Amino acid sequence: MLVVKFGGTSVGKPERMKKIANLVTGMPGKKIVVLSALSGTTNTLVAIGDALLKKDLAKAEQEIAGLEKHYLQFVDELYSADAYKAIGQEIVSRFFIFIRMLAAGSFDDKSYRELLAQGELMSTEMFYQHLQERKIAARLLPALYFMSIDENEEPELEKISNRLKPLVDSLQSIDLIITQGYICRNHKNEIDNLKRGGSDYTASLIGAAIRAEEIQIWTDIDGMHNNDPRIVDKTKPISELTFDEASELAYFGAKILHPATIVPAQKYNVPVRLKNTMDEQAFGTIITEKVSAGSFKAVAAKDGITAINIKSTRMLMAYGFLRKVFEIFETYKTPIDMITTSEVAVSLTIDQDAQLPAIEQELKKFGTISIEKNLTIICIVGHQIAEQKGSLKAVFDALGNTPVRMVSCGGSANNISVLVDSQYKKEALQLLNKGLFNL
Ligand code: ADP
Ligand code: ASP
Ligand code: MG
Repeated sequence: MLVVKFGGTSVGKPERMKKIANLVTGMPGKKIVVLSALSGTTNTLVAIGDALLKKDLAKAEQEIAGLEKHYLQFVDELYSADAYKAIGQEIVSRFFIFIRMLAAGSFDDKSYRELLAQGELMSTEMFYQHLQERKIAARLLPALYFMSIDENEEPELEKISNRLKPLVDSLQSIDLIITQGYICRNHKNEIDNLKRGGSDYTASLIGAAIRAEEIQIWTDIDGMHNNDPRIVDKTKPISELTFDEASELAYFGAKILHPATIVPAQKYNVPVRLKNTMDEQAFGTIITEKVSAGSFKAVAAKDGITAINIKSTRMLMAYGFLRKVFEIFETYKTPIDMITTSEVAVSLTIDQDAQLPAIEQELKKFGTISIEKNLTIICIVGHQIAEQKGSLKAVFDALGNTPVRMVSCGGSANNISVLVDSQYKKEALQLLNKGLFNL
């Protein structure tokens, strides 16, 4: 069985939705098709939610009305027959009555998450009706029946698998199963989500849960590129990556994949293929455990990093010191990305600073704390680069005079990371593109 995910831009126009119907019907065997919301929808739902939290009802209604208009236009173009245009209008009307109901109530965190789920719920219903109109046999399987996260917001893969397998088995005669990306239930049985860009993660979780043959992620670009195409002019697609390499790139900011996408697929050794909906002939990228030749493969960047420096002449050399420091981060559920130590100080980075004031307060008992914000981790990935002679020299030759705040090499054989002030990110990515990839 294949799991085939289409992102926002792949479903964001009526003609694209029609195209993906052709694409999936042309694929052999049984498929689970995971859809994102139409492009721009989740951003608008976030804007509506933020306005409602601020009690700016006028702004919320303005955004809701704009979105509704967009969907009415969309269904008018998606369906051909009047009967289906009427069904489309009915779907849109039903969803927007519900969205306005959420907006009219006492809007809280729970309503916000319900609001965010409406994008994927709408896109899948609209797509399903499009298949109905074309008499393509399919089944809509609501993700809220099987996708769940625990109290730590971690997907419950085993439970997901136990729920999903019998559902899929019972649909023996159906080759096309449609479901929502991104959305799930949490441990309180409330509607929740897998964080922004989470539809990729859904696809991988489903692929792992049913031990699929392959997970395909269809998007608006021909696979993973060697550098961020939003920032650097000349980039090129990479045809093969290992799970480890792709995982590092996703975690360290390659937006094409949600940061955790590779984890479930790797666990059950399910290949992940990245494909371009706008150019289906392009090879894309295949991610497996197979190592391919070549040293430097790609560069990715993660913004919004905060560095915390703990200076302590008394404590640092004492054993148990780092454990005590890590425990504080564990207590506040804040992951650490990079870490370096010297004889009298330790520096580490985090990308979630919601708990920073409390963490800082607790760290103060160990020494002097200084905090630096607006930093970027640049992650350079390639097979065993951290162990190859000359890799670090190549990276630093490429970076030239760019000031580097921290370096991490050797933690993983496939990754060299440098921390820079975000103002140098663009320049650093361009320099690495030239120096390491000759682009
Ligand atoms: P979707 O809506 O299909 O999930 P996304 O916008 O989330 O698509 O991801 C695709 C985008 O990721 C590309 O259009 C590209 O701009 C961006 N991107 C960032 N880094 C990379 C990279 N290294 N390789 C390919 N795309 C990247
Ligand atoms: N619609 C969600 C988002 O925009 C999930 C996704 O597209 O992957 O974040
Ligand atoms: Mg995405």
